[in-house]
Order: sequence, then structure tokens, then C-alpha cells
Amino acid sequence: MYDVVVIGGGPSGATAAHDLVMSGHKVAMIDRDGRIKPCGGAIPPRAISDFDIPDAQLIAKVNTARMISPTGRAVDIPIENGFVGMVDRKDFDPFLRDRAVAAGATGLTGTFRRINRTAGQTNVIYRDKASGKEMSLQTKLVIGADGAKSAVAKAEVPGGEKINYVIAYHEIIEAPAASNVYDPLRCDVIYDGKISPDFYGWVFPHGASCSVGMGTGIDGVDLKQATADLRAASGLTGCKTLRREGAPIPLRPMDKWDNGHDVVLAGDAAGVVAPSSGEGIYYAMMGGRLAATAASACLASGRAKDLTLARKLFMGEHKNVFKVLGAMQNAYYRSDDRRERFVSLCHDVDVQRLTFEAYMNKKLVAAKPLAHLKIGVKNLAHLTGIVSATRV
Ligand SMILES: Cc1cc2nc3c(=O)[nH]c(=O)nc-3n(C[C@H](O)[C@H](O)[C@H](O)COP(=O)(O)OP(=O)(O)OC[C@H]3O[C@@H](n4cnc5c(N)ncnc54)[C@H](O)[C@@H]3O)c2cc1C
Repeated sequence: MYDVVVIGGGPSGATAAHDLVMSGHKVAMIDRDGRIKPCGGAIPPRAISDFDIPDAQLIAKVNTARMISPTGRAVDIPIENGFVGMVDRKDFDPFLRDRAVAAGATGLTGTFRRINRTAGQTNVIYRDKASGKEMSLQTKLVIGADGAKSAVAKAEVPGGEKINYVIAYHEIIEAPAASNVYDPLRCDVIYDGKISPDFYGWVFPHGASCSVGMGTGIDGVDLKQATADLRAASGLTGCKTLRREGAPIPLRPMDKWDNGHDVVLAGDAAGVVAPSSGEGIYYAMMGGRLAATAASACLASGRAKDLTLARKLFMGEHKNVFKVLGAMQNAYYRSDDRRERFVSLCHDVDVQRLTFEAYMNKKLVAAKPLAHLKIGVKNLAHLTGIVSATRV
């Protein structure tokens, strides 16, 4: 009998499993394994410190973000007092899983099938990868951390069957030598309706390789062609392509993360990815940690209601950042004119500080109310066109 069976061993599941064994629980973690998660791999310092990510996992330390507008104007934002870490999911996910197993979790390789409930017992049924057989694990609670197309969310939690997504596609290419177009210490973020009509494109350095991609929620957009265009515009057409892959990114946190009984969701499975940026690794790890906190509370009290803590605690901490990022996406990702204005706004040192504080440390800076006011007025001026994009 397990205290908790965690489905999925990505950043959210592996974190949940690790935290639960560290707090003395008996845990099994099932991951189907065999596919590298398509991901740009950018993580903020807050992720590195909150989750003890060792330096060896960082394949690059980025010191500049370059925002590129539809007309090709570039605004470089230096990353002050730190760096953005880049991880390779090929190594990062196994590292997180191994860490959970080394701490005492039972690591299993297989595919979740369903949850059976008979005579007051909860059993997780999964298909074991080695034998191909269906296996059953008796457990008190289940954490669904099986990613954006979560089978656990679909089967167990209201709303889990109708999550909206952006589809993100990228190509992992051999990194070229540093040049005036490619800098191995710089992330490029491309706001251009020809590359993505509703999201953005990116060039993220990964040491010896590099991730070039884009996302969109609009049907019919040719993701491969858009990425080919982005590679051409970035001078990366000639680089050898190592992998081509795509995956959904959920658009907004689900209204409910638990089934009111014995299941709680974490990470992409709960729809948790930051609007505007699509950043999900930090939030998945935090979601895993809070699902573990909620599960521990529920196991100690015997109250299923304690499972709601996962969402409550998460939203208490991150609701405001998500609101601001959501408003930004709504306001600026609609047309090339708006995108041009957004990149103009990035010149502003206050905007740089605020957005980077929100990204790097997951905090909206409250200390400078005048800066907020100034940004609010500038935002309005840019959106209404009072300030023309070209004048800034
Ligand atoms: C192209 C792309 C680029 C991205 N770039 C970034 C970025 O640069 N920075 C960032 O922070 N975020 C980025 N994201 C988002 C980020 O990858 C996710 O938010 C994050 O991986 C979510 O972690 P998770 O643990 O919730 O889910 P996942 O990482 O998807 O992990 C789920 C795990 O569950 C397992 N699983 C799934 N189904 C089953 C099943 N039925 N049975 C057993 N196991 C199962 C999978 O094998 C997987 O290991 C990007 C996403 C995409 C698609």
C-alpha cells in the first residue's frame, strides 16, 4: 500500500515524489519514459535555488534577452545580477527522477491506464513497459503529473477533458559559432505575426545545440514553415537539424485541480503554464511541491478537502503575475502594430526591471509604486497609439 502514487516523472511529478519521500511517505512514481520532452529548457534563478538544481545541469547561462519586433528592431535586455539557466530535458528529467528514487521513491516505467476503486480501495492500473503486462498499485492518494494531455485529468477531474492549448514546435539544431547574428549567451524572442500570429518565436542557446521554434493556438498555421522562416531570418538555415518535435502548452490553470476524493493534479496536467511566455518548468516544479504539500496534509488529517490546498497555495503566490502576463498577451499579441509597440516598451528600464523581476524571482516588485504608475501610463499610451512605436 503506497501513500501516494505519482503518475508522470517530469519536473512536476519528480518534484512531488521527491518532496513526499523526504517527508516520510511511501511513494511510487510511474513514468512512461522513452521520449525527450520538447522544450526550450530556459529556467529562472528562482527555479535553480528553490529546487537545488546543480550547476552541472546548466548547459548554458544566458546573460541577455533580445526582443525582436516585426520590423526587425532588436532591443537587448541585459540580465542584471544573474543569468537564465538552460537545461537539456534529455538529461534534466532523468536527473530529477533519479534524485526522487535515490531519496526513496519506487521508480516504475510504464503507462498509466486507469484508477480502479473497489471496496473502498484505490488502485492505479498501469502497463509495465518491460513485461507489457497490466499491473496494479494500491494507494491512498494519486498525483496526476502526466503533462499537457493528462490522462489522469481527463478521467478524474472536472474540466480535464477540455483544456485549451498552444501548440509549440521547435527544431534542435547544431549551434553555429558565435557571430554577429548568433550569441551562445543570448536568448532571442521574436514577436512577428509572420512567425507566430498569436504567440512568439524563439532562438534559445543550449551549449553545443540550440532550440529554434514557435507556438500558436491557431489551427492551420504551418509550424514547420514558420520555423524554417525563423531559421532563415536568424541566419540558422545551414545548421544541421538534430531533432524536430512539437507538443502542446496549456493556456490557463484549470479551475479545479483535485477530484474531491483522492486525486490532485500538478504542472501541465493542471493547465499551469505562464501566459505570455509559456514558461512551465518552474511552475510545474512548484505545482509538484504544492501537490505534495496538499497530499501530506490530506494524509495527516484524513480530510479530502485538504487536496484543494495545492491550487489555493499556488494561486495565492502566483495569481497576480499570471494576471499581468495574461493581460500583456491579450493586449500585445494581437497584431504586428501591437507587437511593434510592445518591443518599443521593452526599451524602458522600469519595464525591463519589472518584467525581469517577475520572471527571475517570480515576484511583482511592490517597492516602487511610481514605476508601476509610469508603466501603466506608458502602456496605455502605447496601446492607444498616443506614443508612436517609431519615436521610442
Ligand atoms: C516546444 C516547447 C518549448 C518549451 N520551452 C520552455 C522553456 O524554455 N522554459 C519553460 O519553463 N517551459 C517551457 N515549456 C513548457 C514546459 O516544457 C512544461 O511546462 C513542463 O515540461 C511541464 O512539466 P510537467 O512535469 O508538468 O509535464 P511534462 O514535462 O510533460 O512531464 C510529464 C511526464 O509524464 C509522463 N507521462 C505522460 N503520460 C503518461 C502516462 N499515461 N503514463 C505514465 N507517464 C506519463 C511523460 O513521459 C513525462 O515524463 C516548453 C514547452 C514546449 C512544448
